[in-house]
Amino acid sequence: MPEAPTAIMPTYGRLPVTFTHGEGAVLYDTDGRPYLDGVSGIAVTNLGHQHPRVTEAITAQASRLVHTSNLFHIGLQEAVADQLRSLTGMEKMFFCNSGAEANEAAIKLARRFGHSKGVASPQMIVLEGAFHGRTLGALSATGNQKIRKGFGPLLEGFLHVPPNDLASIDALAADREDVAAVMVEPIMGEGGIRPLDADYLARLRERCTQNGWLLIFDEVQTGNGRCGSTYVFEQLGVTPDVLLTAKGLGNGLPIGVCMAKGEAAEQLGPGDHGSTYGGNPLCCAAAQAVLSTLTEEPIMQQAERIRDALLAALHSHIADPALIAEVRGRGLMIGIQPDTATDHIVAQGLAKGLLLNIAGGDTIRVLPPLVMSTEQAGELGQGIAGILNHVAQQEDRA
Ligand SMILES: *Cc1c(COP(=O)(O)O)cnc(C)c1O
Repeated sequence: MPEAPTAIMPTYGRLPVTFTHGEGAVLYDTDGRPYLDGVSGIAVTNLGHQHPRVTEAITAQASRLVHTSNLFHIGLQEAVADQLRSLTGMEKMFFCNSGAEANEAAIKLARRFGHSKGVASPQMIVLEGAFHGRTLGALSATGNQKIRKGFGPLLEGFLHVPPNDLASIDALAADREDVAAVMVEPIMGEGGIRPLDADYLARLRERCTQNGWLLIFDEVQTGNGRCGSTYVFEQLGVTPDVLLTAKGLGNGLPIGVCMAKGEAAEQLGPGDHGSTYGGNPLCCAAAQAVLSTLTEEPIMQQAERIRDALLAALHSHIADPALIAEVRGRGLMIGIQPDTATDHIVAQGLAKGLLLNIAGGDTIRVLPPLVMSTEQAGELGQGIAGILNHVAQQEDRA
């Protein structure tokens, strides 16, 4: 095992493994040992590692031009914006480099929108348990006290309400004149793969329209094929005014985007916001290859098959069905809530050559790439069942 990288700030509790290369759904460590990837770099490498179309696009672009800044027209940025427009119906795009930055853009946009209505201190409604990123604006929108703790003073202007609770939305609508927007993750990712109710989202859309609020969907994690469609709002039948994504958009190259339509698309003008790298030719070449692959190849259609194969193997190899309290999520955003302790699950997965992750404290978050075969998915599901059986045995249960 390599020495701990001591010049790195210890912000992550890292697993004792280093990968040197990858292919599809498999990563190889420094000893050449293969690992089945159930993490996808946290919902980033949705097309798998070293996808040929992405590799070709970024190597070709890297040999021509990497960066110019947004002082100039960028043909590839225009092209990706056009792809996103035709895929989502959003009208204007702001490119940045991460999910947190996409959220920051949306927060600024929503405040502008509020000011344009004469609101002196525009408020944004956000959900308890939500995750929107680590920068201060995004952190202030985040409803996870553990992540926020110790970083005050946070930004004002956020009203945190419980998820799936329309009554608290209606109470704010009745009480306040200063709300500009509601921002939600349609499926809370870091919070433990917790989908919002379809009916709640539909009602939220109604309330936003009635009250003149913007509805903002943070699809940083749910987007780019992860849930079986380019963006999950398409499946939910609820269209936001502002749509944010990042993670899978570049399949590993850093790119994020804040998309907007209607009045929301008109809020940010010259000099109002910026990013030095945002939407540079190299990252846009990656995003273009990702979006083209998602739309031209029958790949998102695999999400349900892979999910089914994984869950079928999980359920058929589990010693006692009661060990699995709940399975949540959509497509390849899979939350398995075991009825066992979860502290050793990731380490046991690693020992078996399976990459897993825990989200929301007690949920196994499985995020396989769309290119995983059904055999590999079965192997992953069986492996997870084996780990849970073992944990239960240790707990003297099964
Ligand atoms: C990961 C994530 C973010 C933050 O993205 P970064 O690229 O890490 O800044 C924001 N929102 C959601 C829903 C996420 O899953």
